Amino acid sequence: MDVIREFDPWGDPLCTCPKKYGFNPYTGCPHRCIYCYITSYIPRAFECRAKKNLIIRVERDLKRVDKRRIISMSNSSDPYPPMEAKLKLTRACLELFSREGCRVQVVTKSDLVTRDIDMLLQLSSVVSFTITTLKRNLSRKLEPLAPPPKRRLKAMQKLSSADVPVSLRLDPIIPGLNDAGIDRIIEAVASVGAKHVTSSTFKPRPDGWHRFQRVFPETATKLTPLYFEQGKRHHNSWYLPREVRLELMKRIREACAAHGLTFAPCREGLQELTTGASCDGSHLISRKGSS
Ligand code: SF4
Repeated sequence: MDVIREFDPWGDPLCTCPKKYGFNPYTGCPHRCIYCYITSYIPRAFECRAKKNLIIRVERDLKRVDKRRIISMSNSSDPYPPMEAKLKLTRACLELFSREGCRVQVVTKSDLVTRDIDMLLQLSSVVSFTITTLKRNLSRKLEPLAPPPKRRLKAMQKLSSADVPVSLRLDPIIPGLNDAGIDRIIEAVASVGAKHVTSSTFKPRPDGWHRFQRVFPETATKLTPLYFEQGKRHHNSWYLPREVRLELMKRIREACAAHGLTFAPCREGLQELTTGASCDGSHLISRKGSS
């Protein structure tokens, strides 16, 4: 089976990403984020494991991929789980991508990515960090085993100081839980060199909603009518009412503008709010290694 595949999230017409590939060196993710959606389609989703014969499969897939398209790693796992420190599989893949002149977007919550600054500089790359809160007591509950937000900020600073472009994924926004911290997060990432923000509201699937209810029962009770009475179902996910999503995304766009960052909503059907040249931050990819 191919490991570098067309990025086409459930054939969702709301996705505005440029044509790109999705690639996950690992199956499953150890961070155990409460809001994670991979539990809806990956068995034992929170048990991270290396893909079998990964390097051979990547070498094979690289013979057929269109090098003009970017490779996004990863959207159904983190390419820098703790085991990557020893296995160095992501690093080996970056070496292959560099050799082939590929353009790469790394999406991560881990500061381990800074180990590979040398490779990221050889490549045409951007690193997108997900930060949903700066409060440690909240991030412990939301993203129990992910590196703390402060370490992610330090990693962003280290990368941007080394001239690796960085962007923020402020995703998901959960009203009543982390929306009060929007301005502080954007101020913080702007100060460490981020240039673009991609954001999305929480769009729970049934399994994610059950986890969320268990950990945040009071917020879940308040949000229940917004999702399940006034909201709508789209591609097996529940959406908040449009006016609620619009207000949240506008707030983020304004905060971005105040700090000189571009902005794009992700899968909200609100493209009119986009101020960046791409929604996913891929326009920040440098051209250094491209053929
Ligand atoms: S880092 Fe991403 S893939 Fe991993 S558990 Fe969290 S939301 Fe899921």
